[in-house]
Amino acid sequence: MSREPLTIDTVRQQIVGIDQQVPLLDGRLRPYINLDNAASTPALQPVYDRVNAFLPWYSSVHRGMGFKSQLSSWAYEQAHEEVLRFVGADPAEHVVILGRNTTEAINKMARRFPLQDGGIVLGSVMEHHSSDLPWRGRAVLHRVRVTPEGMLDEEHMDHLLRRFAGRVRLVVVSGASNVTGYVNPIYRLAQKAHEVGAQILVDAAQLAPHRQVAMGRLDDPAHIDYLALSGHKMYAPYGTGALIGRRDTFMRGDPDLVGGGAIALVTLNSVAWAPLPDREEAGSPNVVGAVALGEALRGLQEIGMGAIARHEARLTARALQGLRKIDGLTLYGDRDPECCARRVGVVSFGVTGVDDHKVAAILNCEAGIGVRNGCFCAQPYIFTLLGLSPQEISRLEARAARGEVQDIPGLVRFSFGCYNTAEEVDTAVEAVGRIARGEYSGRYTQEPDGRYRTEGYDVDWGRYLQV
Ligand code: PMP
Repeated sequence: MSREPLTIDTVRQQIVGIDQQVPLLDGRLRPYINLDNAASTPALQPVYDRVNAFLPWYSSVHRGMGFKSQLSSWAYEQAHEEVLRFVGADPAEHVVILGRNTTEAINKMARRFPLQDGGIVLGSVMEHHSSDLPWRGRAVLHRVRVTPEGMLDEEHMDHLLRRFAGRVRLVVVSGASNVTGYVNPIYRLAQKAHEVGAQILVDAAQLAPHRQVAMGRLDDPAHIDYLALSGHKMYAPYGTGALIGRRDTFMRGDPDLVGGGAIALVTLNSVAWAPLPDREEAGSPNVVGAVALGEALRGLQEIGMGAIARHEARLTARALQGLRKIDGLTLYGDRDPECCARRVGVVSFGVTGVDDHKVAAILNCEAGIGVRNGCFCAQPYIFTLLGLSPQEISRLEARAARGEVQDIPGLVRFSFGCYNTAEEVDTAVEAVGRIARGEYSGRYTQEPDGRYRTEGYDVDWGRYLQV
């Protein structure tokens, strides 16, 4: 399929739904500004085109001898290869296991990684719930602290690695934070883990869309053993993610999910598993999603991960410069616009006296800007950044147990994608400035779930999308 080359300058025109008009509270329409890319990115046009080109050929994978079935199986295998290439992995050492997303990948890791005999997993306070919860109850979990600014406290990690040397089986760390954007030194951490006989799992949900990552060869002390990523954060919103992991781990033991497709032979009394990756991908796979993921990764490589990182660093610096000037605004994490090369484009903040839910509602209703607010599935990290005392956390626990969640504190988050512009950043910063100065016109009332309802903003969703 021939198409326009993708570059950092042309990518915006290759985003499906770019500048879609959305309604404001006063009835005007505005081109939507999406600053919620850390949650999910829109689709790249080449991804959309590839999916449409594939659908007429779409058929069952790995089961049929029919032409379409063989073509679909080939396309599915190509997607695995594309992921391997994207993360610089050697297929003799690493295998790509496709699934739904990062959450599923890390849950698989927690079920498949051998942790008998009280093996220790070293996590961190900065982890997303998806890379913390799966280990609870399965491993002896210790967490590396974060500094007051929210950076991984590497000295504490060194201390824990020394203290539990020989017993730490796995270090689990985010490649980049979805709250502060900090990029962890994953290769250095990998080396430290390997020195004490542990392996490392990188939650790359926020790293892989923004930086080149390289698994490395297993004989390199700084290699990555396991890495998880999500296609929907990489311009392929079709329900596929990947776990890239050491073949030797997945060759041992039984798969966590068993059923059709995962076997070589089943008798009434026995089962022999299929070769990798099939043995870890039981059930009919999401081949359309896999095709989409493969195309998105090709697209990102074409733009260039270096060009993406530089563009997003410029947007982040601009956002920090603007937000820092707003009275009554607190930025979390690194506030220095000069340091944007060391972080991804995620900027979290709070506006004094205005609830985070309300800020997000005003940005939507009065500026057509989509942001995320709350705790972004990283409550322990955010409670640490906010400096909540153990008593305050206990009070929140007691209230949540009664279903009362209205006053869980939270932040507002801008997160940039490679297609966002400096003008969008400026518009968003100005809008936040107006909110901080009380210059908004709507009437907002809080619901029991914490969100705000905007008086007079009653959208007939069916008008926009007939389902
Ligand atoms: N880890 C991090 C750092 C994330 O930001 C996210 C998504 N917000 C996840 C894991 C989970 O990703 P998914 O929802 O795609 O499983």
